[in-house]
Amino acid sequence: MIKELELLVKLQQIDKQLQAIDSLKGDLPQVVDTLKQTIASLKIEVNNNKAREKEILLEIKRLESQIADNKVLLARYQDQLYLVTSNKEYDALTAEIDTLKQEIDSSEYAILTLTEEMDKLKITLKGNEMTLEEKSKELEIKQAELDKTDVKTRKEQAELQVRRDELIAQIPMRYIREYDRIAKAKDGLAVVSIQQDFDEKVDKKGNIEYIPLHVSCGGCHKIVPPQKVVEIKSGRNITRCESCGRILYFDEGHYQPNTSDEEDLF
Ligand SMILES: [Zn+2]
Repeated sequence: MIKELELLVKLQQIDKQLQAIDSLKGDLPQVVDTLKQTIASLKIEVNNNKAREKEILLEIKRLESQIADNKVLLARYQDQLYLVTSNKEYDALTAEIDTLKQEIDSSEYAILTLTEEMDKLKITLKGNEMTLEEKSKELEIKQAELDKTDVKTRKEQAELQVRRDELIAQIPMRYIREYDRIAKAKDGLAVVSIQQDFDEKVDKKGNIEYIPLHVSCGGCHKIVPPQKVVEIKSGRNITRCESCGRILYFDEGHYQPNTSDEEDLF
């Protein structure tokens, strides 16, 4: 195999390892981020609700003392009714009494409405606080998981990166550019081995016989023409898949029947 191809194969192997590390972390970094955001907005909601709770309490207190004052005044006016001497005075006093009664009524109604709001608010707050506790616990667990993965993988990641840089320095720029372009478009997979595909036949005894079918691209699984297979096997130049454009190479391991259930893409 020519040096450039050999190096490209090695580069792909390192990138696969780096990808595996990333997938080990999975969606943990995003999960942690989302949890942090949820908790922050929940805290704001709790604070707002608590502020409203205080506001309502003060307003109820104010209304209650207003009612008490009005009731004192009402009793006084009602006593005065027995003492009036003219119709005009009587009418004026009755009007005052009606106004006071209306005021007391509307204050009592306002208290009722506020109390209902307060009841709902208490339920919401309880829910908020439960969710907050739940999410905080979840964050703690996920953050610890992420930290653990980071500690485990940081060294490995750094080592792989050093080896990657060393490789890159040895590969001609035009191949690096091609590699990057394909990798970006094809899920990080730019260099793949060709593979022998087999047909599985089970005989009467239950033995599986593997019958070689055709050779295909290890990336897109499209058939590679025989003359191209010969070229790839020789390893004398850089050959690409006519279908997906990936760089192809020959690896003995991929010429064996795949007897495991796992899909081997590489
Ligand atoms: Zn292909």
